[in-house]
Amino acid sequence: MPYSVSSRMEDERLKGLLLAPDKREVLEELLYNYMRNLNRIQRWNHLSHLRFGADITRNGIDTDRILRKVFNQIDEFLEVEKVPEPTYYYDPDCLLKGAIFNLMNYSFRIPRKDRVHLILSASHEYTHHVQIAYKIQTEYYPIFSEGHARGVERHIAEEYLALEKNEAFLLPPLQRAVSDVKMTYIWFCAVNACEPRRSLLRSISPSDFSNQIFFDQYGEPRPHALGNALFMMNEEVSGKKIYPKAVKKKLVLK
Ligand SMILES: [Zn+2]
Repeated sequence: MPYSVSSRMEDERLKGLLLAPDKREVLEELLYNYMRNLNRIQRWNHLSHLRFGADITRNGIDTDRILRKVFNQIDEFLEVEKVPEPTYYYDPDCLLKGAIFNLMNYSFRIPRKDRVHLILSASHEYTHHVQIAYKIQTEYYPIFSEGHARGVERHIAEEYLALEKNEAFLLPPLQRAVSDVKMTYIWFCAVNACEPRRSLLRSISPSDFSNQIFFDQYGEPRPHALGNALFMMNEEVSGKKIYPKAVKKKLVLK
């Protein structure tokens, strides 16, 4: 889907919201809280207490059943019905590249990994599928749609934590959240000529690499990072109803 003039204008507006001077404190508080949660979960990971589940490519694992349940949970969360059936496929290259959503034919590929990563990747990509089915991609693309997908993924992680008492679901979304907000904070401080608090830049996350590469090339965080930071801020204030509201085109981000 082409990056249209209206999409570009919408992205500029959203960047303007993030750069408003009053957002400094909000970003710092978000980063501080999420860093604390990430440190706690990472300690568990280090101690091998987290259960990511078996390799989904192993015989006998019904991935279609796992995914059908995830898609139903997202439909319910986003208050959508009769979403066209998505097509998806496994791609060994995806292990390196992450999950890819193909806008041209409504299909997405998901990494051949463990159950936790399968559920989380599929949540993000299926959300893009819903966005297209409800035609919100054309108006809000890509900061809005990436932030929305990151938020739904985070919600599904929390649902599975509650259902299965498994904190492994929280690790990937927390790593992304910390890296995304940190990158946005660094950019905010560079644009507004202020000094970032060093203590808030200490957390290291696997997402830092892809975030840094984009930042070095384009001089600003990638849309996933900006969108995630913006949706996290709005979720703090207005709660999770922002996600179904976005699909109904009734959400005005602040
Ligand atoms: Zn995405």
